[in-house]
Amino acid sequence: MQVAIIGAGVGGLALAQGLKQAGIDVRVYERDASARFRKQGYRIHISEVGEQALAAVLPEVVRRRVIETATHPGDLVAGFDTSLTPTFEQVYPGAGPDTVSAIDRYAFRRALMTGLDDVLVFGKQFTSYAETAAGRVQLTFADGSTETADVLVGADGVGSRVRAQLVPDFEVIDSGIRCIYGKIPVTPAVRGVAPDAFLRGFCFVTDGQGPGAAFAPVLFRTPPEEYGDYLMAVMTGTQAQLGHSDEELFGMAPGDLWGVVAKHVADWHPAIGELVAAADPSAAFPITLRTCTEIASWPTGRITLLGDAVHPMLPSAGAGANTALWDAARLTEALADGSLPEYERDVRPHALAAVDESLRNAKHLFNLDLGA
Ligand SMILES: Cc1cc2nc3c(=O)[nH]c(=O)nc-3n(C[C@H](O)[C@H](O)[C@H](O)COP(=O)(O)OP(=O)(O)OC[C@H]3O[C@@H](n4cnc5c(N)ncnc54)[C@H](O)[C@@H]3O)c2cc1C
Repeated sequence: MQVAIIGAGVGGLALAQGLKQAGIDVRVYERDASARFRKQGYRIHISEVGEQALAAVLPEVVRRRVIETATHPGDLVAGFDTSLTPTFEQVYPGAGPDTVSAIDRYAFRRALMTGLDDVLVFGKQFTSYAETAAGRVQLTFADGSTETADVLVGADGVGSRVRAQLVPDFEVIDSGIRCIYGKIPVTPAVRGVAPDAFLRGFCFVTDGQGPGAAFAPVLFRTPPEEYGDYLMAVMTGTQAQLGHSDEELFGMAPGDLWGVVAKHVADWHPAIGELVAAADPSAAFPITLRTCTEIASWPTGRITLLGDAVHPMLPSAGAGANTALWDAARLTEALADGSLPEYERDVRPHALAAVDESLRNAKHLFNLDLGA
């Protein structure tokens, strides 16, 4: 059996590792020009669900690489008002030396690519598929080339082209929330000004009215070649709260975008202003937060889906990547033992629970009610 995966994101790479380990012939087609094409350095929280899935699909050498590139585990989730008065705090003590509880997305993807040189094909933007008379699937790419496979897996994220063809009426909802993502390199000066909690775990700062901001440490066990420890900083709000239309936000140079964040925190606690001023302005970029409220479904055949392609969700439960990893582990099993219908049956309730949690959390974090 030959399996073609579209998308070398977290889910597609984990599936490729699992299938390769199971002795299944697999290729991953990724639109990016190379593994280094984008530095998508935001921090991903890894839950027990994600850790278990990684243990199930990764060869030991790759699992060790993931552990080495993960961050030192934090032990805190906390909320503050804009004068840095704590509003809630939850402590998670006792992470073991091999615990992976948070990881830089770029470093994670690089680790997941370990040993996949013969599997990964970069610079291949998938455009469409067709089922052939011989019972295979033909894939067409933007460069006009084609490939065939026995099974096609769409692991191509929230804007999935595979899903658009397989489940054309599936609704991806724009939550109305925009993020301005940024990075604050952890220097001695930043350590001096950052509240202790910001270096211990995920912290959210809000006045409950305007945009909010999240801060979380990425303190590497082993940093990637390209950069070192940083504080992830993300401002979230509607276009009205941020004071800019999409056209403006997505058209701004990174430095101007970061200027929007600096303007909003100007009357917050001075430590936050100092942290924002210490950021690398060239690292700023905007993100649209999208979600589904129901999970895609399709008739079982030669084409299937995993991760954000099936169940895009808001980051408010820290569950999108973990659910994609769960899918990858379950789909590895299903492709190895011929139980694809069972994978497609199981993926929906599991993902729906995560989507519902992210929608519930969004009520508190973003003042957003999409009806969960
Ligand atoms: C700010 C932010 C913070 C987040 N934090 C967390 C967190 O803490 N924990 C968590 O679990 N989740 C988190 N998430 C969600 C998580 O990033 C996603 O759920 C996860 O990346 C989904 O993995 P995936 O493999 O399905 O898709 P993706 O990671 O989006 O990968 C899709 C891949 O497909 C490629 N691709 C797309 N179209 C094509 C095409 N036509 N042809 C070829 N290749 C294509 C893309 O280039 C990409 O490499 C966060 C998301 C955001 C935006």
